[in-house]
Amino acid sequence: MILGNDFRRLWAATGEDVLGAVRAVGESGWYVLGEEVRQFENSLAAQWGPKHAIGVASGLDALELSLRALGCGPGTKVLTTPISAFATVLSITKLGAVPVFVNTDDAGLLDLDAAGRLLEQRPDIRFLVPVHLYGHALDMEHLEALRARFELTIVEDCAQSIGAAFNGKPTGTVGKAAATSFYPTKNLGAMGDGGAVLTNDGVLAAEVRRLRDYGQSAKYVHSALGYNSRLDELQAAILRRAFLPRLEGWTRRRRAIAECYLQGLDHPQIRALEAPAGSESCYHLFPVVVADGRKKALAEHLREGGITTGEHYPTALPDQPAMAGVRFEVDRDYARARAICRDELSLPMHPYLLDSEVQCVIKACNSWS
Ligand SMILES: *Cc1c(COP(=O)(O)O)cnc(C)c1O
Repeated sequence: MILGNDFRRLWAATGEDVLGAVRAVGESGWYVLGEEVRQFENSLAAQWGPKHAIGVASGLDALELSLRALGCGPGTKVLTTPISAFATVLSITKLGAVPVFVNTDDAGLLDLDAAGRLLEQRPDIRFLVPVHLYGHALDMEHLEALRARFELTIVEDCAQSIGAAFNGKPTGTVGKAAATSFYPTKNLGAMGDGGAVLTNDGVLAAEVRRLRDYGQSAKYVHSALGYNSRLDELQAAILRRAFLPRLEGWTRRRRAIAECYLQGLDHPQIRALEAPAGSESCYHLFPVVVADGRKKALAEHLREGGITTGEHYPTALPDQPAMAGVRFEVDRDYARARAICRDELSLPMHPYLLDSEVQCVIKACNSWS
């Protein structure tokens, strides 16, 4: 089987280092928010760029705590994209804030031109949660221009974009904060849940640190109604000692695989959802769209060839059943986003894919009739 993610191969390559990390934590006698978390935060910030990294329990929490620390609350309008993991919109609605969806472009990413037009007419919208979906960096210069022009507060959803950049500028460095996830399938995945907030703002970093630990500003002093969103020492140790040092190599490998797909795929009904020009994608996924409503047929054909595929995502966020009882707004329509949800299929993409497997996927796609 050619898998979308292959955790057994990951273990074969990293298991010894992971066991070393587990031993170190066991011997330290400290399991939650300790020295390992602190060192992982420092290493992550140093490798990524922003001054501060704060480990939290998940990518969802990284988004929610960032937004809340920046003053997003009941009734706040937050511009975002209709195609993402549900966590993106959940972080907004959990705060009682109101998501405002703009359409996507042809690549499935937030349409920044449409966002600009809406912001022009709507001075009541001053929060933006852009998503660097699939690992494709949005145009960071365009984001920066929107931020300056409309004095936006931006929290970048970088759950899929660790290692991605636009014209050399890493994702997560235009917003007030970047939120990322260490869910196991992500490019930097833990062996369980985890997430982080990255920011250059020391005040914001301190606020997120307070919120993640019940709103404690000093021991037994609760100055805010916070969360339990602490990161385990085990996850932090595994991430820093076993996985973070491999991330650059993994990203190179993902890019090489994507290059093979882009060169090799040749079928009139299969179109790769390519990153915008200037985007140095970290290829969290390799999404294609399948024409003429034939996505299911291609998935079945590949499955028969032993190839696993995924969908990211089959339903637009505002169409999810849970949104029926929630206040949200839509800018005009999101037909393009819906079409991508209908047609998108994700081909296998992980750093331990073999060249022969990539060729096998390409051949299976090209020979599909
Ligand atoms: C995975 C993901 C999240 C949520 O991360 P969790 O750690 O699963 O809570 C948020 N946004 C995007 C784009 C994601 O892919």
